[in-house]
Amino acid sequence: MTRTVYVNGEFLPEQEAKISVFDRGFLFADGVYEVTSVLDGRLVDNPAHLKRLHRSLNELEMAAPATDDEIVGIQQALVEKNHLREGMIYLQVTRGAAERDFNYPDDAEPSLVMFIQEKNILLDPRVETGISIITTDDIRWRRRDIKTVGLLAASMAKMVAKKAGADDAWMVEEGFITEGSSNNAYIIQGDGTLVTRHLGNEILSGITRQAVLKLAAETDINIEERPFTVAEAEQAREAFITSATTLVMPVVAINGRQIADGKPGALTRRLREIYIQNALQASAAA
Ligand code: PMP
Repeated sequence: MTRTVYVNGEFLPEQEAKISVFDRGFLFADGVYEVTSVLDGRLVDNPAHLKRLHRSLNELEMAAPATDDEIVGIQQALVEKNHLREGMIYLQVTRGAAERDFNYPDDAEPSLVMFIQEKNILLDPRVETGISIITTDDIRWRRRDIKTVGLLAASMAKMVAKKAGADDAWMVEEGFITEGSSNNAYIIQGDGTLVTRHLGNEILSGITRQAVLKLAAETDINIEERPFTVAEAEQAREAFITSATTLVMPVVAINGRQIADGKPGALTRRLREIYIQNALQASAAA
């Protein structure tokens, strides 16, 4: 099926959408992005995604290509035009097309691209089995708090995992896990404490992370935001990841070792349920 995508003011069939070869997103990975999940035809946590988009743009001194109202209007139009019930909307802003030069151009018009992808998020079969992860060196740059389209290190980490027969990778720096290749990483200790790395330049401030930590606190779960080691993860009672498209996803093996009994943990399942319930209610009210 041909999707309708959005490129700089136009809704077009995907084959007709075009971006300049001089676009700095293409030449320098000079762009930022957001992924908002769509459940039951509605955008989940979208205001928080737009807020993070502005933060990324500000850090790179990049102009916003449209107002938030305009962006939401385009997102909703894409959901409608593509009859999307469940999946995600991808949004990318690049600095635009300019003569190739490392310095930021003064006069480039930012470019805005958006498209949808269908995906089974709620009934993802991996929720029942859990996923396996391996740990690998975090070779990314030092501004991981900016959600740039420079994702090659994340692709490489996922390929390391794939070649090792695992589903995904957690990245390690100076002995501590930073985050997953495209998600935030959590463990639950034997005493029930939820541990996830604190925010900083070393990780992306996940929107799902923010929502899940709030819900966990409301559920009286003890939370520690601090770095944790690979050994701690291997000995954890439960582990999971969060992101817009996986929500809360159980991790059942790390580096070929089973976590606890090798099944999705009870607290992880509960957090997923609470997150989904909350997301559906909040988006219905919006
Ligand atoms: N960390 C990284 C490196 C990511 O790429 C992502 C998802 N894009 C996340 C964390 C999770 O962020 P969110 O919950 O906003 O999807």
